[in-house]
Amino acid sequence: MSRPVRVRFAPSPTGIPHIGNMRTALFNWLFARHSDGKFILRIEDTDQTRKVEGAIEKIYESLGWLGLEWDEGPDVGGDSGPYMQSERLDYYQSAAKRLVEQGDAYHCYCSSERLAEMRAEQSKRKEPPRYDRTCRELTAGQRAQKEAEGLASVVRYKIPFEGITSFDDEVYGYVEFQNALLDDYVILKSDGFPTYHLANVVDDHMMQISHVIRADEWLSSTPKHVLLYKALEYNSPKYAHMPMTFGKDKAKLSKRHGATALLDYKDMGYLPEAMINFLVLLGWSLDDKTEIFSRDDLIQHFSLDRISKTGAVFNAEKLNWFNGYYIRQLTTDELIERVMPLLDAQLPADVKRPIDTEYLKEIIPLIHERLKLLTEITEFVSFFFVDDIEHKADELIGKKMTQDSSIAVLEASLPKLESLAKFDTESLEQVLRPLAEELGLKTGQLFGTLRVATTGKTVAPPLFQTMEVLGQDKCLKRIGLALEKLKGMD
Ligand code: GLU
Ligand code: ZN
Repeated sequence: MSRPVRVRFAPSPTGIPHIGNMRTALFNWLFARHSDGKFILRIEDTDQTRKVEGAIEKIYESLGWLGLEWDEGPDVGGDSGPYMQSERLDYYQSAAKRLVEQGDAYHCYCSSERLAEMRAEQSKRKEPPRYDRTCRELTAGQRAQKEAEGLASVVRYKIPFEGITSFDDEVYGYVEFQNALLDDYVILKSDGFPTYHLANVVDDHMMQISHVIRADEWLSSTPKHVLLYKALEYNSPKYAHMPMTFGKDKAKLSKRHGATALLDYKDMGYLPEAMINFLVLLGWSLDDKTEIFSRDDLIQHFSLDRISKTGAVFNAEKLNWFNGYYIRQLTTDELIERVMPLLDAQLPADVKRPIDTEYLKEIIPLIHERLKLLTEITEFVSFFFVDDIEHKADELIGKKMTQDSSIAVLEASLPKLESLAKFDTESLEQVLRPLAEELGLKTGQLFGTLRVATTGKTVAPPLFQTMEVLGQDKCLKRIGLALEKLKGMD
């Protein structure tokens, strides 16, 4: 009978969650939701020296931004708590004690100096660094003697000298390791804190984790875990190791490929929908063609057997493409809701607050298609909101135009625009198109000059619509200002 699905995301609070961590979280969350199982958040904070202040909050915030809600965790509780490893030391200590008592682990009293010397010798002999097992052979009397001396000790796991340890991975298939190559690794440190391996195994057992889905950098730790499960007579979970993510240059994803912290992408203006779609394809696919997946599609289709063994390449252009796509899918109202906080923070102080939503509703359709990042919004819309714009003199004189011809264009436009009873796209088009011909100019030259005059930008949404939304007063005033600038140039 298969166990109910319970999976966990088990980050260590040693920094800000990066893209790779969050891909692990996403795969676990999807698997839980697909299987009607539970998604558990466990904080693996047993390495107190590497703990970073505020990291746990960043973990919550990262999961929250992607909408990966957890069913059990330090903040929401659950039946298998506590979910913070530093609050579970008793469990690890009694597991270590049991392992020592049944002969699967032993106390090691070696000093850090002795271990350093040993490693130096090993490296001289070009041997892999590993514990030489001196304390494995201590007699009960020798041990008692060391204890009496008050020597601190760690607990090491007794790896069998021979044989193989194997497991079936849902992604990699059958995997085996030679025991002879494994180290008698530490399970409990001298300060009573467990190492990752022991805490991880004890907790996965106690929290009844059915599937361990994690990055393949942990693959080589798995035989150690499998041995621990056997020794403790626990049921081993199923394992699924996910392929590494690479930069385009095939190097392991790192800072030099751009931002790696998930929340940096939030700040840069990416949508969580785009991020999820992008992240899931780093190592998973439904077939060889489908690229767009909503959250519901993913919950419906996600499966471990479609995780690939080969590394996934982080392609930033692809992410941008997804972002543009998901921005285009938003309705005007939805987009307004997402950009409102940005506009509120970034538009100049003299723009009235709260920001006029009705006015934004007229503007958004003009720029919606072009928006690739939410953060571009202020740059795109601020000229609609501010009173006066600052013209750049050189931009007012467009291609194949001169100072004089630019002045002529604007002077000829003014009365035409002033005379319009209705200042809408259609009427603007009716007076401005023939004007180009009258002036002996290409429409592009006329429109370009008017665009810079009315918006202060060389690239802006369609001119007539923009002018309609700006309104007659603003347009006339700005053209007047542009003329002053042009005339004052000599
Ligand atoms: N604490 C480990 C990490 O930070 C968890 C690894 C695992 O999932 O077993 O990635
Ligand atoms: Zn020792």
